[in-house]
Amino acid sequence: MERNLTHIGKPLLHEVAAGSLDANLDEVGYRSYCHRWGYRLLYGAMETIDCASREIVIAPLIDEDGGELIGRHRTGYDYLMIATGSITSDFGTPGVAQNCLFLDDRVQADRFRNKLLNHCLWVSHAMSENADAEQFVRIAIVGAGATGVELAAELYTAASALHYYGLEVFDESRLKVTLIEAGSRILPALPEKLADAAREELEALGVRVLTGARVTSITQEWILTQTGEAIAADLKVWAAGVRGADNLRNIGDLETTASCQLVVRPTLQTTRDDRIFAMGDCCYCLLPGFDRPVPPRAQAAHQMATTVFHNLDRLMRGKPLRAYVYIDRGSLVSLSRYSTVGSLMGNLVGGRMVIEGRLARFVYMSLYRMHLLAIHGWLRGTALILIGHVARILRPRLRLH
Ligand SMILES: Cc1cc2nc3c(=O)[nH]c(=O)nc-3n(C[C@H](O)[C@H](O)[C@H](O)COP(=O)(O)OP(=O)(O)OC[C@H]3O[C@@H](n4cnc5c(N)ncnc54)[C@H](O)[C@@H]3O)c2cc1C
Repeated sequence: MERNLTHIGKPLLHEVAAGSLDANLDEVGYRSYCHRWGYRLLYGAMETIDCASREIVIAPLIDEDGGELIGRHRTGYDYLMIATGSITSDFGTPGVAQNCLFLDDRVQADRFRNKLLNHCLWVSHAMSENADAEQFVRIAIVGAGATGVELAAELYTAASALHYYGLEVFDESRLKVTLIEAGSRILPALPEKLADAAREELEALGVRVLTGARVTSITQEWILTQTGEAIAADLKVWAAGVRGADNLRNIGDLETTASCQLVVRPTLQTTRDDRIFAMGDCCYCLLPGFDRPVPPRAQAAHQMATTVFHNLDRLMRGKPLRAYVYIDRGSLVSLSRYSTVGSLMGNLVGGRMVIEGRLARFVYMSLYRMHLLAIHGWLRGTALILIGHVARILRPRLRLH
């Protein structure tokens, strides 16, 4: 069951938002995908679960005009795997929901890009009218994890290309990007040395990096921090944390955390129902011997899916289930075309194998190619990788609409 008809990898959303990736080329249509791999697609959003009758309640399907296409209905299950991902958490900060943009899905990324292009157009127009006008597009990004950092760098690539496409007087010097982080440094998942290198790169581009600055509230014009600073911004992006969607709270009387994630055992079964598994960002999985839960990352979701697949098979055959083992293979952060930094192998070598530059870029790109191969198989995946290269040569550098 899926509430969208197409899939685009979340780690690509900052590129969709900046316009450097055309999501129409990269997204996968679920209907044809399911046909190809022999699944049945149930199009709709899970609203709640009735564990006693083993049924999922599916929300009414609403068409573009607001009319009800299909009413609320139910579907039965023998076993259930929940992988509904996460949404950005505003930690209850006043004004975030009303004044910020998020990057949780393609619709939000498209919305950001349209607003970005409109602001760039306005600045370009104002400066064409008056060459002395000092106009800027002011963008504030709250949260300096991978999403915030990658978006900040990607914006400069996009801005540097706009003068090719009719915004003759616009370039990256017209951007004023502020990256605001509550913690003492950016990229807490990476070794400090790499985070420092990324910060230097961002500052060289012109990004103002504020650390130790917890945001206390956001208004239409300002971002206010605990340190008493007020940052004016035309576009405000909140990329500062994840939580489960509200409908997961105590869904079907299953155990959930305060941040609406389903609590699972090491077998990835939910704590109160052996037949229901949860994996990826929507689950809270604290493995024995660890003091922190498995992080909400693509590699964890991927590994969990493999464990759930095998455990479901074992459960149906009456065999004992195996515990999930999280293998941190490291993290890579792309600063667009400017640089890539990361640590490989993570806990296998204590996170000390740091890579930067071309090698890091190559590995980063390889990860995306492996994602394509995993989704489409070798033949189609390889064809799509080649088509992607050709498209990059033939198509504009930016998605401009
Ligand atoms: C901008 C961005 C950049 C990121 N970059 C990285 C990175 O570089 N490396 C990394 O490891 N991780 C990265 N992440 C995190 C990574 O994307 C997630 O950890 C990963 O996608 C989690 O996978 P998932 O399957 O749990 O959830 P998702 O990929 O979010 O998939 C959940 C799916 O469930 C569907 N769904 C949700 N609710 C319902 C419902 N009620 N009914 C039916 N369907 C529903 C959604 O439409 C979606 O298709 C990034 C995240 C973001 C937002």
